[in-house]
Formats: sequence, structure tokens, C-alpha cells
Amino acid sequence: MVVKIAVVGAGAVGLSCAVRIKEVLGTKANVTIIADKFGMDTTSHVAAGVLVIETPLQISGYKGKRASVEKDIIVLSFNHYYESASLSHAEQAGIHKLEGYHIYYPGVKTGTVPFYTEYLRNWRPVTEEELVSKFPALPKGCRGHFLEIVVTSPAHYLPWLTQRFVEMGGKVKKSLVTSFDELWPEYDIVFNCCGVRANSLTDDTSLLPVRGQVIRAHLPKAEKSFAYITNGHESSPYFFWTPDGTVLGGIKQKNVQDTDISLADRRVIINATAKYFPHLNFSEDKIMREKAGLRPGRPAIRLEVENHQHHGEKRWVIHNYGHASEGIALSWGTACVAVEMLTDILCSSKL
Ligand SMILES: Cc1cc2nc3c(=O)[nH]c(=O)nc-3n(C[C@H](O)[C@H](O)[C@H](O)COP(=O)(O)OP(=O)(O)OC[C@H]3O[C@@H](n4cnc5c(N)ncnc54)[C@H](O)[C@@H]3O)c2cc1C
Repeated sequence: MVVKIAVVGAGAVGLSCAVRIKEVLGTKANVTIIADKFGMDTTSHVAAGVLVIETPLQISGYKGKRASVEKDIIVLSFNHYYESASLSHAEQAGIHKLEGYHIYYPGVKTGTVPFYTEYLRNWRPVTEEELVSKFPALPKGCRGHFLEIVVTSPAHYLPWLTQRFVEMGGKVKKSLVTSFDELWPEYDIVFNCCGVRANSLTDDTSLLPVRGQVIRAHLPKAEKSFAYITNGHESSPYFFWTPDGTVLGGIKQKNVQDTDISLADRRVIINATAKYFPHLNFSEDKIMREKAGLRPGRPAIRLEVENHQHHGEKRWVIHNYGHASEGIALSWGTACVAVEMLTDILCSSKL
């Protein structure tokens, strides 16, 4: 029997799930992505797309076989991106390696050793002298590390995932879903990958928007490099080179819904870039574009199976949302685990 699956959401999380389902089940699954927004209208398209994880990962609702699912998600994601960056499709998918500095202000708890060092490549701690010689405007007492990361440019990666999905026989439909009930009986299983709007289908009050705003600028001096200053405030200055311009940020405003460009935030980013990263030779005429978006903020990513009924028949929703600032970075690992949850359902049900 062929199982009918709807993936609601066409951001990095939904597309990764859809591709992974087809990879694992092939023609045994009819998969349709349903979303009201695609490509540049998603939050995923706003993201810088870097593989940086700031705080230890938390997962809620998971009842699968993995004993340390948080760690496994990081490993699956990091392996996927680091390996993809060396493969022939890397350029087309917008996946590139960068080298640079993650810097912590004095008093920021995270410390000099990133908690995920065991998964990082080419990581080393740096002395305060090295930091100050590179970034003279830093205050005294900063700490940090030098590392190789991967950046995945959403403007390339989202179309690349979509193309892979369609080539494997997947279907795509533009539609707003107002309730899971409207998807039965056409589908047997639904993936909820609705990002910051997942609560409109679930009444999940722990999901809150965390507004961000970024500038993309033409800055050749940033080529394949980055710097990220965690200062413990709502605006942590950063630059990340990407093939679509160097991304300058980083604004993080909890529980703010507005996606209009704020001139005040633009000024914050411009001033921080000029102060901390003068070697980039940034000037306002180098701005290519600006965007604001809402991160799906949640204390933990929800990876959970929910049982539904339709006329006495069992149906299932697999929730996969709440990736906050790490939805590009962790999309592949959470998709792999969500699809394992799917295969567990298939093994234990009549489908
Ligand atoms: C400024 C900024 C910088 C960021 N930088 C990074 C970074 O460097 N690295 C990183 O990993 N993350 C970063 N993020 C976070 C990242 O963008 C998000 O975590 C990620 O995009 C979430 O992806 P998603 O697929 O869950 O949601 P989205 O991309 O928002 O996609 C949600 C999808 O669900 C659909 N949808 C929602 N509700 C419905 C409905 N009822 N019916 C039909 N369709 C529906 C939407 O149309 C859309 O297709 C950044 C975010 C911002 C704002």
C-alpha cells in the first residue's frame, strides 16, 4: 500500500522532511508539500543560514528509540552540511565552508569552549591578544574561538531541495491549511512544519516570534570569512559571507511580530559593522537588500507524534517546528528523526 503524506510548510524544515521521506520511502509514499508561502516569502529565506549553535539543543515530545536525540540531531545536521560542502552539488545548493571567529563578551556565560566542539571541524581557542589584533574595538576581557563553519544560502538551498523533491516524484500545492481535519481522509499522515505559525494549528502557547533583521551587502573583503560577537544583548553584531552577499546582523527581539524594515535597527547594524569590522570597508552604498523575519522561538524544538481520528480511522500528525535561530542548521537532523518517527508509525499500524 502507498501511504499518503502531506508536509505542511515549505521552509527549510518542511522541504528537508519532504526530501527525506522520498529518500527513505521512495514510491511507497505519495508526498505533497502544502504551503501558503514559498521561497523568498518564508522565514527560511531571510536567514543567514550558518551552522552556529548558541545554546545546548532541547527537544520536546520525542518518544522514539534514540537515547540522546539532541546530540544525534546535531551530528546528523553537521555531517550533512560538512559533507555536502565538499560534493559536486555544493555550489548549486549554496553550501560553502567559512572560517572565522565566534567572540564572547566578558560575563557571557557560554564561555570559550562551544558546547558542540566535538562536532566541529578545525576548531581552536584564541587568545585575547589575537582577538584584539583582529577586532580592535572589542572591550577588554573578551574570549572566543576560531572555527570552520558551513553557510547554507537559503536562496540556493530552498530551490535545490524543492527540485530534488520534485525529481523524486513529490508534489507541491499552494494552499492555506486552517485545521488538520481538512487534510483527512486525503492524507494518512501530516507533517506540521509551519515554523512560527505552527501555533495557529496547535494552540501551542510556548511558540513565540523572535524578530530579526539583516542587511546583505557587497563586501569582497569578507570572502569566505565570518565573525560573530555574542554580547548578551538583543543585537549581537555579526558578518557572514554568503554567495548572495555578506549578511550583516544581528537583531533578536523577543515576541515582536513586525516584519517591516526598521530604520532604527538598520542604524544599529550599520554602526556595529563600522565599529567592530572596519576591515570590511562597509558603506551604505554597498547595501544590496534588507529583510526582516520571525524566528520560531520555543524553549525546545517540538518533535512529537500526535494521534488523530477520522471516522474511527487512525491518523497522525508529526510535529517538527520551533527551531528558533537554528532552523537552517538543524533542519536536516530534525527531518531525519521526524522521518524515523514516520517509519515507526508505518511499522506499528496497518498503513
Ligand atoms: C534574521 C534571521 C537570521 C537567521 N539566521 C539563521 C542562521 O544563520 N542559521 C539558522 O540555522 N537559522 C537562522 N535563522 C532562523 C531560521 O530562519 C528559522 O529557524 C527557519 O527558517 C525556520 O524554518 P521553518 O521551515 O520552520 O519555517 P519557515 O521558513 O517560516 O516556513 C514555514 C512554512 O510553513 C508555511 N505555513 C505556515 N502555516 C501554514 C498554514 N497554516 N497553511 C499552509 N502553510 C503554512 C509557510 O507558508 C512556510 O512555507 C534566522 C532567522 C532570522 C529571522
